[in-house]
Amino acid sequence: MIKDNLIRIRQTIPAPTRLIAVSKTKPVADLQEAYDAGQRLFGENKALEMRDKHAVLPDDIEWHFIGHLQSNKVKYIAPFVALIHSIDSLAILQTVDREAAKHDRTIDCLLQFHIATEETKFGLDQQEAEQLLSHCDDLHHVRIVGVMGMATNTDDRTLIRSEFHTLKAIFDHLRQQFFADRPYFCEISMGMSGDYDLAIQEGSTLVRVGSAIFGARNYANVND
Ligand SMILES: *Cc1c(COP(=O)(O)O)cnc(C)c1O
Repeated sequence: MIKDNLIRIRQTIPAPTRLIAVSKTKPVADLQEAYDAGQRLFGENKALEMRDKHAVLPDDIEWHFIGHLQSNKVKYIAPFVALIHSIDSLAILQTVDREAAKHDRTIDCLLQFHIATEETKFGLDQQEAEQLLSHCDDLHHVRIVGVMGMATNTDDRTLIRSEFHTLKAIFDHLRQQFFADRPYFCEISMGMSGDYDLAIQEGSTLVRVGSAIFGARNYANVND
């Protein structure tokens, strides 16, 4: 079932867009099944859950942290995380830098933007991002490689598309203003199970797909 879902979904994702299997709340056996079907990029939104899964699953998995990150939990993922999608303040970026230094690593990060019309979602606006980017020159153990956003949870596909379009415009603007000679600034993380087709059309390079691969989530099992 997981394998069939992966095969079907992969056929709809053209290179160079990459598929992150969002495995939050799912048991290790489900991740192993996806791994055995060739999946190597996994997304989690709780630091301890990701640490525990990393400890028991194969070493060649690329772990993507996609949830809101608390400063006191960065230490659990700093040794191995491949990409943190959810940087929304200079303070959390500084913490990631400090923890990465302890492991002699440089951790790739995305700036998370608030593109949805809902109030509840985390994220920066363009002005806050510019502010952040002009104050992080002295951080040598983090590298900002792009942007991330979540569209409004709605059936209105026109609205979702316009929010993805906004994120792409922010990306283009920041690239021109802060990363003109830095080709590593190239990632746009947008698109989930219900809207990744639109996200790809609007320029996504990383889609984060959970329930369409693993089925509906049951949050009762989770503590972090
Ligand atoms: C849970 C989650 C996803 C995946 O959502 P699905 O609708 O299950 O595909 C993607 N991105 C983030 C940030 C998430 O928290």
